[in-house]
Amino acid sequence: MDDRWEVIDDAAARARSHLESARGAPVAPTADAVAGLDGLTSVLPDGPGAVAATLEQLDRLGSPAATRQSAGRYFGFVNGGVEPAGLAAAILALAWDQNAALPVMSPVAAHVDAVAARWIVDLLGLPPTATATFCAGASVANLTAIVAARDALLRRVGWDSADRGIVGAPPLAVVASEEIHSSVPKALRVAGLGSGSIVSIPTDGCGRARSDAVPATRGPTLVLLQAGNVNTGHSDPFREIIGQLDRQRTWVHVDGAFGLWANAAPERRALLDGVELADSWATDGHKWLNTPYDCGVAIVARGDDLVASMSQNAAYASATDGRSPMNMGVQMSQAARAVPVWAILATLGRSGVADAVERCCRNALRFADVLDAAGAEVLAPVVLNQVLVSFGDDETTDRVVAGVQDDRTCWMGGTEWHGARAMRISVSDTSTTEKDVDASAAAVIRVWHSLP
Ligand SMILES: *Cc1c(COP(=O)(O)O)cnc(C)c1O
Repeated sequence: MDDRWEVIDDAAARARSHLESARGAPVAPTADAVAGLDGLTSVLPDGPGAVAATLEQLDRLGSPAATRQSAGRYFGFVNGGVEPAGLAAAILALAWDQNAALPVMSPVAAHVDAVAARWIVDLLGLPPTATATFCAGASVANLTAIVAARDALLRRVGWDSADRGIVGAPPLAVVASEEIHSSVPKALRVAGLGSGSIVSIPTDGCGRARSDAVPATRGPTLVLLQAGNVNTGHSDPFREIIGQLDRQRTWVHVDGAFGLWANAAPERRALLDGVELADSWATDGHKWLNTPYDCGVAIVARGDDLVASMSQNAAYASATDGRSPMNMGVQMSQAARAVPVWAILATLGRSGVADAVERCCRNALRFADVLDAAGAEVLAPVVLNQVLVSFGDDETTDRVVAGVQDDRTCWMGGTEWHGARAMRISVSDTSTTEKDVDASAAAVIRVWHSLP
């Protein structure tokens, strides 16, 4: 027995204790816990110490200052919890310390990557010929797909952007839902297309792009739609919009960071009708699938388009047989992000994932019903895992959001929705129970009713 590794057992025990004690505990750390982090930022030690002491210090000072995001009562942003199967597999894979860039570097990473990618395409109801690849999150997935789209659209009009760049290239029109997620204009800027030239598709009262108001364009056009509006959870009418496009000169990309998972639940599939007709999609593992951070997925209908934009020439890392993740995305060295995805899917199976998605949707509806019965206003019909609530005027709504964050029973953020302030509730932790929803909704109502 080599006792250098005792610290691994210690870490696992501390991790378990952190997770167990988080259930039912206040969600946000106290101001004292946050102040205690100063203890971690003292001077760099002059020399070595004991790793056991390092870990003890990290747990004593760090754990209390962590947001308890995977204990059922965190409803901020679209932050998912962590599925135990994914966490356990990630711990094992961290010990493997594989570089998933090329199959020759890690047979296990390469194999699991290919299997998990195929399972994701299948679960999300996308064409079986589509190619999925793992990356750091939906922002990176959006960027990856937009670069592939840019290059493919220009190639169709005889411009080789891989060689010549985009300065002086034929114009590329960009059409996007007026409420497209902020990561998409950012990706357009990073891709050299700029966000100022976006022609918007106006949205309806639920935040969906209006199929009767798609602007006409000429020449190569990138069309950006979304599955899952980040405020309401509603999705664009894909079939109606894509059906009216000239598909010879358009590329449709769908940002489905969380919303694409509606397709994993048979009862929700109608929400995404026609989404499979797009050319590329972005989604996240760390949101609704509850993988550990970070994990995104870029999916492209024709894998060659991805490789054309992302392949990298290095004699020492020349293309080997099979999928090479370094030639399918922006990173060369990369974690084996597919491992926790594979473990969660292998553990839950098709029906387990469907149940997890469905449960979040039902709990979102429960939130809406309880708050509505208490007299709050639910601003958009709840169709997925997102709930938007107003408590009358903007000032009261902001005060309820701030009060709930101080109360610490649960955590929700605020947003601006069609000109009004709103509380935004996202049920993205699949471990959330009805009891968690009831306790959290009761806390919201208590805070609201006790406002001075
Ligand atoms: C969260 C989100 C993103 C960004 O995803 P990251 O994983 O945070 O990079 C993009 N689009 C939508 C709709 C999102 O909800």
